[in-house]
Amino acid sequence: MDIIRLEPVFKQMIWGGTRLKTDFNYAIDGDAVGECWGISAHQNGDCVVKDGLYAGMHLSSLYTEHKELFGNIKSEVFPLLTKIIDANNDLSIQVHPDDDYAKEHENGSLGKTECWYVLDAKEDATIVIGHNASSSKEVKEMIEQGRWSDFIREIPVKAGDFFQINPGTVHAIKGGTLILETQQNSDVTYRVYDYDRLSNGKPRQLHVKQSIDVIKAPFVPETPNKNPDITANKNMDQLVSCPYYTVWKNSVSGEKRHVMDQPFMLVSIINGKGAINNSPISKGDHFIIPNGYGNILYSGDMEMIISTPAY
Ligand code: ZN
Repeated sequence: MDIIRLEPVFKQMIWGGTRLKTDFNYAIDGDAVGECWGISAHQNGDCVVKDGLYAGMHLSSLYTEHKELFGNIKSEVFPLLTKIIDANNDLSIQVHPDDDYAKEHENGSLGKTECWYVLDAKEDATIVIGHNASSSKEVKEMIEQGRWSDFIREIPVKAGDFFQINPGTVHAIKGGTLILETQQNSDVTYRVYDYDRLSNGKPRQLHVKQSIDVIKAPFVPETPNKNPDITANKNMDQLVSCPYYTVWKNSVSGEKRHVMDQPFMLVSIINGKGAINNSPISKGDHFIIPNGYGNILYSGDMEMIISTPAY
């Protein structure tokens, strides 16, 4: 049985940069490529299988037609989405709804819980996580009065940091930051504030009412929850375990063995190169280890982010 290699989907964004091309060596054009959807079955960017038995198939179809590869988990759609984000400029300040709000207000869509592993950040870089309003009433006032510098909670960020972003959390990546995001398979984002920027001559749409509806107050910084019992593979760092996913960072130097004890695993190589059971893998590769893959032998010198859905 082979791993399922995927062809990423790239997104031009007004805040995007060139590091997906220069750091990750993806063969892409444009000076404002903001996102690489490395493992995605979302309709706005459905990855195609690169090679092997299922070459050319979209991940969404592979998931519905071959549920055995994914451990026959209950989720109707492929549950997760992995992206690399290159923020050359500041992203808009945003917030996501939870499943209940999205179901009611966004055509039955899933809500969005996401998490960020910071791959790189320029010196003195910051990130927006949370806000400084003491109540929902104050959230509404501060937003309506445009008191952005009072409202937004900005903190320093460096490579290796990790953030869990639950629904209702105000957040934004700022310029000079490269991150790997693991998220629920959803594209529902409410934009609270876009620094009054113009895109094609006009401001991008804001979702003020929805944002005020879903922003939780007061903001309480959280330590990501962990669940060490979820796997027998103890030789990697668990970053978070939440009701939607568990995410690990796995560093390999020489050889490392894992057993496949999850429905399936999503893997993104973020540094170096090597092999998985003698199949070559290197920085920028995104693949799925299917159900029933058996014993895993990583070899080489590399770092990767691994995730699995909650099941
Ligand atoms: Zn987000």
